[in-house]
Amino acid sequence: MFIVMSARATAEEINGVKSLVLAEGMQPHESVGSERVVIALVGEIGSDRDRLMGRFAQLPGVETVTPITRPFKLASRDFHAEDTVIRVGPATIGDGSLTVMAGPCSVESREVAIETAEAVKAAGATILRGGAFKPRTSPYSFQGLGVEALRYLAEAREATGLPVVTEVMEPSQVEVVNRYADILQIGTRSMQNYSLLTAVGRVAKPVMLKRGFGATIEEWLMSAEYIISSGNPNVILCERGIRTFETYTRNTMDLSAVPLLHHLTHLPVVVDPSHATGKAWLVKPLAIAGVAIGADGVMVEVHPRPEEALSDGEQSLTFDGFRSLMAAIVPLHEQISRLPRDPLLPDAALAVGGTSKH
Ligand code: PEP
Ligand code: MN
Repeated sequence: MFIVMSARATAEEINGVKSLVLAEGMQPHESVGSERVVIALVGEIGSDRDRLMGRFAQLPGVETVTPITRPFKLASRDFHAEDTVIRVGPATIGDGSLTVMAGPCSVESREVAIETAEAVKAAGATILRGGAFKPRTSPYSFQGLGVEALRYLAEAREATGLPVVTEVMEPSQVEVVNRYADILQIGTRSMQNYSLLTAVGRVAKPVMLKRGFGATIEEWLMSAEYIISSGNPNVILCERGIRTFETYTRNTMDLSAVPLLHHLTHLPVVVDPSHATGKAWLVKPLAIAGVAIGADGVMVEVHPRPEEALSDGEQSLTFDGFRSLMAAIVPLHEQISRLPRDPLLPDAALAVGGTSKH
């Protein structure tokens, strides 16, 4: 349930509510908005709900106590009305600016890392991407250089000032990836690896959570909920395409997910047209589409010589291709950000179309 404090509630009253939450054996999660504080009480409340609601409603400084209807709570706009803004080094994500993450699919060598970082930085990228630990469908494919690649990424950050996002595949890698990276990426295949989500929930750096290729939006938000409820509120969602019956593209980019998520959650949303399409020539039009529907950012794969790439060469942009993409999306984003924002939708308009299990 959410305990909405009155706009005039004192720090003492807020602490009083939090103490009672703790005394009832639960953890209070606090959201400090520009006008008021909301305290979420999450956990197994069950048949105790009416008693607890009555108890909290009587406390001084409490304005309303409302049950939480959606399965995701800390990730929802009901809990945290304002957009979450994430700062990593010189980059800011979710503040209305356009975040552009670019770099090779995998960090194949020091040269590829540095050369690509310099080229994408010069063209306006704000974050460097690159895989060190690579989840590959085939055990015989290149699996990434691991810690060696993390060192090259850190060197590329030194050279360009770009913060680094890279994937962590298992809980045992969290410590080392956290040491080198600025943002920890959870890949599509790991979106429901709950021990990994809990592990990245315990680190202080932001997490980019890619959508599982077979996951609903609700399941995706439940995975974000694992990270936030473990203590890390800085989650970026990345739409990277879902599996459908279509075979011309690697995946199908779910464009409606972007505006939907902006209504359902306060977390920033970026799109990845490289993995969504699997084809370099489709990356620019889909990046344009993502920016046009209000994505907070775009992630794309870029390689100095895509034909030589050890992974995902077919979907990687050349440096020229990346410059051409930037020439399209930067002015488009300027125009889009001048449009007035639509008001948030009422609950009924956001009803779930199907059923899902938790
Ligand atoms: C990636 O971004 O490097 C990646 C492996 O993407 P995904 O998990 O979306 O397939
Ligand atoms: Mn890739």
